[in-house]
Amino acid sequence: MSIISTDIQKAKALLSADKLVAIPTETVYGLAGNIYSEKAIKAIFETKQRPLFNPLIVHIASIKNIDTIVSYVPEKAKQLASVFWPGSLTLVLPKSDTIPDIITAGKPTVAVRVPNHPLTLKLLKQLEFPLAAPSANPFNRISPTTAAHVEGYFKDKIEMILDGGACKNGIESTIVGFEHDEPIIYRLGSIAIEDIKAVIGEISVKNKKEHNPEAPGMLDKHYAPITRTVLSTNISEDIKKYPNMRIGIIEFTSHSQSNVVKHQITLSNRGDLAEATSKLYGALHRLDNSDLDIIIVEIFPDTGLGKSINDRLSRAKTK
Ligand code: AMP
Ligand code: MG
Repeated sequence: MSIISTDIQKAKALLSADKLVAIPTETVYGLAGNIYSEKAIKAIFETKQRPLFNPLIVHIASIKNIDTIVSYVPEKAKQLASVFWPGSLTLVLPKSDTIPDIITAGKPTVAVRVPNHPLTLKLLKQLEFPLAAPSANPFNRISPTTAAHVEGYFKDKIEMILDGGACKNGIESTIVGFEHDEPIIYRLGSIAIEDIKAVIGEISVKNKKEHNPEAPGMLDKHYAPITRTVLSTNISEDIKKYPNMRIGIIEFTSHSQSNVVKHQITLSNRGDLAEATSKLYGALHRLDNSDLDIIIVEIFPDTGLGKSINDRLSRAKTK
């Protein structure tokens, strides 16, 4: 029997019994558990094979619940939350005493957001506790954007995937923290820097692990396919470098067809960044499962969401 279902009551019952349920969000699917259940949170780390030093994001039903999670909200965090929640912005703020250390990897701060997916919001509103929900993929693998991706990863390990269709945005949330009340981007993501600047003005980016003890999750090799993956700004030229290989290509927008290529995916014929972003992880999943020797991915235009995608691509490529 498939573990994929739309039964919210079943998800509620499982989560209330310390079990894990994969949930849809507008960014990627999450592997969710009760933040106050030690058993559930340990199971999240074990199921994902995620190192304990990598903290989890807490998902709440409404901005009204934030005071149960954090002890202080800077003015600029309030502005961001009021514009982007429910949505793909994660805030890192000083934690309240009741948040277990395992959630924050022992840090004094906690990551929190209100996701923007109708099914998951409905579920969160019915639960008596918030959900910790890191992306529902094994550590270092590509994040899932459909229930089928999660099933491929965790079929034998979890009891239920709440099916909310394909994720609309298709890339992880943007993470913003504060140091001395100054905002800092810890992870580029679903909300473009330009849109954040439009609300709170200048913001610095500390997105690389070596500069970023605050977000140990930003490991350099992350989000990676198993198949050898290279990046390109000129796919038709680069194809020639790999004679006699089974090549898959993912192009940002439409270029000429090539007959040496086995699989070719165009992310957006009209060159639309949001459309291409929403399809990228699905394309990587598909080609990674297509028995290829190499995947060549076209680098996105380096603006808006393209910056976030290029950051992910630089981590996905084979080193
Ligand atoms: P995931 O939910 O799998 O997308 O990963 C969660 C991300 O949030 C990781 O990159 C974490 O490092 C980051 N994160 C969670 N809590 C904190 C925190 N307290 N401070 C900084 N980054 C955090
Ligand atoms: Mg993740």
